[in-house]
Amino acid sequence: MTNECSICKAPSIISRPYSGEALCDNCFRVSVIAAIRTAISRYKMLHRTDRIAVAYSGGKDSTVLLAILVDIQKQFPESEVIAITLQEGNRQDKERQRVLRQVTQQLSVEHVTSSYQDIFSLTLDEIAERAQKTQSPLSPCAYCGTLRRQGLNILARRINADKLALGHNLDDEVQSMLMNLVRGDLQRLARITPFLKGVEGWLIPRIKPMYHLLEKDIALYSKLLQLPLYHPPCPYKETSLRSEIREWLNTFEDRHSGSKFNLHASFLKIINSIKSSKDEPYQKCNSCSEITSQDICAVCLYRQKLGFSTQNT
Ligand code: SF4
Ligand SMILES: [Zn+2]
Ligand SMILES: [Zn+2]
Repeated sequence: MTNECSICKAPSIISRPYSGEALCDNCFRVSVIAAIRTAISRYKMLHRTDRIAVAYSGGKDSTVLLAILVDIQKQFPESEVIAITLQEGNRQDKERQRVLRQVTQQLSVEHVTSSYQDIFSLTLDEIAERAQKTQSPLSPCAYCGTLRRQGLNILARRINADKLALGHNLDDEVQSMLMNLVRGDLQRLARITPFLKGVEGWLIPRIKPMYHLLEKDIALYSKLLQLPLYHPPCPYKETSLRSEIREWLNTFEDRHSGSKFNLHASFLKIINSIKSSKDEPYQKCNSCSEITSQDICAVCLYRQKLGFSTQNT
């Protein structure tokens, strides 16, 4: 590993095998912020008067995103950043709330919380238990991800947000792309983009300003930020296909540096070519009135499959 920063010759704190550069603390921070600014401007993610809801879980990704967006927002006083959190209903949620409150107070950002219980009258534990009892072929993560997507949209809509910002990094994106490819779900694959258009009054546009940053870069940046994190291991995590793909991708990247970037770029090209020229036809779910591309939304479908009553949210 080089000991000098490739840019300013100060002692380096990170080396990037895929680009051959080594960076010092300052140049590394600048590079992370630059990647986020580039993403925002390339996809025209933000407008100067936007009310931005940042999905904030307390983990490293959402903490870094929140801190950087709060900083960027200072240059655009007509815009606003609000942290939003959805509790899944796991046991240690009280501790999580304490950490989140500390961080949001430190960053002087408004914080709005809700839960699966509040929005869907369900907790993750109940879903996991029912999934096990019914021998569901889907992992708790599959249910949880679907509830989170719809729940965050509902919460962002409740606070009249113009954009919903997610802390997905490059690793998350490539993992999701591969998972949908493995499942043969091209419709869902086509929705994995750095910017997902909204539908007025229904679907808040989703942006992923960190889509071009590696997870390890974000992990290092979060250490430098020195903000407290909350990331206890989820009891259901290991059951997911995502974990297997993550492990495989990391091994592959170690052997062939740059693979994650190349896979991501290739997937974006594939997505562009499989997307129909028309916008996806959205409609109201027959059961809960949330937005969906089918007659019934994925949350209601899962509720039915697991034997929970469907409800209007
Ligand atoms: S690991 Fe899976 S089940 Fe646990 S919070 Fe994340 S998505 Fe939900
Ligand atoms: Zn430097
Ligand atoms: Zn529904």
